[in-house]
Amino acid sequence: MKTNNYEIRYMYMKKHAFICLAFALLTAGCGNAQTGHEITTDTMNTSSEDTNSFKVQKTDAEWRAVLSPERYAILRDKGTERPFSGELLFNEEKGVYTCAACGEALFTSDMKFDSHCGWPSFDKEIEGKVIKQPDYSHGMVRTEILCAKCGGHLGHIFDDGPTETGMRYCVNSLSLDFEKKKETNGSKP
Ligand code: FE
Repeated sequence: MKTNNYEIRYMYMKKHAFICLAFALLTAGCGNAQTGHEITTDTMNTSSEDTNSFKVQKTDAEWRAVLSPERYAILRDKGTERPFSGELLFNEEKGVYTCAACGEALFTSDMKFDSHCGWPSFDKEIEGKVIKQPDYSHGMVRTEILCAKCGGHLGHIFDDGPTETGMRYCVNSLSLDFEKKKETNGSKP
């Protein structure tokens, strides 16, 4: 049976709508309006034009050379990994979480909690190591968090955290590395 132009156009629109819906669900995943609220600009400590102020500066080619394609997509292209896919999501070891792009210490294991959202979550940062800026992408109002040293995209922050800080730093596992705390004298940390 021959497929006419209208049928082809309808099939294309159906396929396109499905792809858009899938993308929106994926990118909305790292916290969203359903659970979190916008962090007011009062709590933000940088602006989106501050990209030249980062201590670590590399060209796009240099970032591509030092990061895997998966890490590049998150850290430099502001992507979001699939929920429940991150290696560090269920990590309960004691230690420090560092920026996967520049190695700066960002969070400690004491700051991590299980938010059940599918991404590693923290209730605070090591002071001054994370910056926040408004993110209006994908039709949402969110607050993006970035490494203060290199500007690498980490995820988003929401004010619906369950601990006393009230904050939920929702971070891509691919943005992080983990340094396990060294055991000394045979005793566990
Ligand atoms: Fe960094």
